[in-house]
Amino acid sequence: MPTQRDYYEVLGVERTASGDEIKRAYRRLAMKWHPDRNPGNTEAEVEFKACAEAYEVLNDPERRARYDKHGHAGLRQTPGHDFRSMHVEDIFSMFQDIFGGMGGGGGGGRRGVARGYDLETEVELTLEEVLTGAEREVEFKRLDVCQTCTGSGAKPGSKPASCPTCGGHGQVQQTGFGGMFRMVTTCPNCRGRRTVITDKCADCRGQGRVPLQRKLSVKIPAGISDGQVVRITGEGEPPPPEVSATGEGPRGDLHVVVRVRDHERFEREGTTLVTVQPIAFAQAALGATIRLKTLDGEHDLVVEPGTQHGDVYPIAGQGLPDLRTKKRGDLNVIMQLVVPRKLTEAQRKLLTEYASTERLNVNRDAPSLWKKVKDTLSG
Ligand SMILES: [Zn+2]
Ligand SMILES: [Zn+2]
Repeated sequence: MPTQRDYYEVLGVERTASGDEIKRAYRRLAMKWHPDRNPGNTEAEVEFKACAEAYEVLNDPERRARYDKHGHAGLRQTPGHDFRSMHVEDIFSMFQDIFGGMGGGGGGGRRGVARGYDLETEVELTLEEVLTGAEREVEFKRLDVCQTCTGSGAKPGSKPASCPTCGGHGQVQQTGFGGMFRMVTTCPNCRGRRTVITDKCADCRGQGRVPLQRKLSVKIPAGISDGQVVRITGEGEPPPPEVSATGEGPRGDLHVVVRVRDHERFEREGTTLVTVQPIAFAQAALGATIRLKTLDGEHDLVVEPGTQHGDVYPIAGQGLPDLRTKKRGDLNVIMQLVVPRKLTEAQRKLLTEYASTERLNVNRDAPSLWKKVKDTLSG
């Protein structure tokens, strides 16, 4: 019986989320709710499995389309896995492409994994911080070696015993398809750890690992873009217990996903910034010097006489820095011609007088717009 909850809500993504966003959300939540990292929390396993179920559906374009159209009822003809009856390790092996390199906590065929889990977290930056670079405190939970039992999982003073099921090999041979072939799988009794614990360490319930809070200062380089990842080597989790009980060996990495908040005055395209500057009709016609706010200061922009609505003035070096070279791009200022909605009596008089002198030749004075009209008609 699948969950009746909304799959987008389970993964915490928008209904318009891309495949990558869904994948990322699932990976993060699977790490968060992994039962190994939430000892004694039965809700975590339920949540972990609900996430797997939601991901399996939303990751399949056809099943996602059915779900979008008809909800849960639309999926009855397209069976998925019953995650509630599956082992956590098997779910990990099933989505190996996502968790690749993270270690699965003892699933079949994963004995070669020597690194710990990679972890993922997010930070949000303002555009001003993208300009200067930023430093962020990140706080996250990671599974670490239990200090009480130094990772063995056995109560201090007691010792783990060699696993009787696999004779301490961590693997067992099984016969498949009526004896046609034999395959080697992870020992179901010790889950590949080679030993079993009779007297469990109370602090980690025999797991050898406990979730620990970790605080870290992370430097985000100037010029970074939304969605880019800063990788902090070795700040992930230690190798899983079946590889190294004491956690020796390379840790996984911490992936810090950068989100850049929208700015009210600037749009960004790579290192280029774009903004809109309102100017009065008279300023556009006569020319003017306008003081405008750049991202990190002010700039006196010389507006040429005869400037048109939509004209672009690039200001060199006032954009964002390139991530590698740190060379700053341009700020493109788009002119927005503002026509006054109300005139004073004096203004009306002057403008009427001006109008009597005006000889506007549309075909000559507005060629760009006429081109646009023609493009629209032919396109
Ligand atoms: Zn312990
Ligand atoms: Zn065993």
